[in-house]
Amino acid sequence: MRQNIDSAMEKSSKSVFSPGILKNWVIFRRLYSRQLALLHRAHARIDHSISIYSIIRIMLKLFAVVVLLNFIVTEAFAQQKNTVNNISQLYLTQQWRDSSNQLFSRTEIYNASNMAIVVVDMWDKHWCASMNKKAEGLIPKMNKTFDAARALGIKIIFAHSETTKFYEAYPQRQRMKQSQIPAPLEVNDFNPPPLPWGRTGGCECSADRTCKESSTWTRQHDALIIKDEDLISDRADEINAFCKANGIKTLLYVGEASNMCVTWTRSFSVIPMIRYGYETIVIRDLIESISGNGYDPDKKVYDPSFTPQKGADSTLTHIEKYLCSSISANQILSAAGREPLSKVQPEIKRKKSRNHTPKSSRYASRKNSRRQNSEK
Ligand SMILES: [Zn+2]
Repeated sequence: MRQNIDSAMEKSSKSVFSPGILKNWVIFRRLYSRQLALLHRAHARIDHSISIYSIIRIMLKLFAVVVLLNFIVTEAFAQQKNTVNNISQLYLTQQWRDSSNQLFSRTEIYNASNMAIVVVDMWDKHWCASMNKKAEGLIPKMNKTFDAARALGIKIIFAHSETTKFYEAYPQRQRMKQSQIPAPLEVNDFNPPPLPWGRTGGCECSADRTCKESSTWTRQHDALIIKDEDLISDRADEINAFCKANGIKTLLYVGEASNMCVTWTRSFSVIPMIRYGYETIVIRDLIESISGNGYDPDKKVYDPSFTPQKGADSTLTHIEKYLCSSISANQILSAAGREPLSKVQPEIKRKKSRNHTPKSSRYASRKNSRRQNSEK
């Protein structure tokens, strides 16, 4: 896969003095020499003043320079176009699971202009302090990945439910609404098993479930960068109309929470969009689940073995087994020639969020780390 991308990059970085320019230069030199010879003969016959002869020679040389510049500029633009075309071909290695949880993968070629990233519910404030921490961990990685995706021609759709009102005057929101065309939502019968803790996602801070559920969000987290060319919508009909109008067939999902809003509880989640005929892919290192911590929210019982990590692993396994494939963010970064995520420095300091964490959750995390140590 890398070889294909490398050869595409190599092709795009060739010299501006391509065979096309050299060929045109040779043709021009021949014509110029012929015209000069004719001019010499005419000059010898009519014997005009020397100044007219010099002026015509200078004009011919100027003409030569203009023609050559024109060739160089045209060729450079053609190569620039080739560069974009080559990079927009994406080689994505996706992973799935079969019924026995066995992982398998396949590399496919995608056209980046037929893809959009759907950024789910990256709110300014979640009711669970642990989910706020998880969001702050995702945002620097998302900003880097989205920049790479934009460079490739992938559209970014920010879908932060219940808060789009805040962005009503934004051009990114208006553009999404204007792009509405008649796009009937044809529905197929895709009906996978329910996601783990998909109905009961609980506070991840501690077994005592110290954070109380409420609508604390007012907008998207302001550290997550929305650029001019991006879009804002939390409605399936708008997203569907935009995608149909722009030839988008594949939706890449990121955000919170992978067992709820990302996959099924919103109109634009993975499952409904599969029903509307879209191919969906989850970027597995840009999602977070919400489950429990020392407490099983489904069975409503204390379970010391239950950790947020266990919830995240189970959710990803379920997605890859029943819903769709997953890729890593580094595949997007690599295709755009950017550094992988491991080299990204965190942009959001954790110090601030620690103040919001209830004491009991800090106790719970210490308890968990002690438990993990004793298990080793
Ligand atoms: Zn919490």
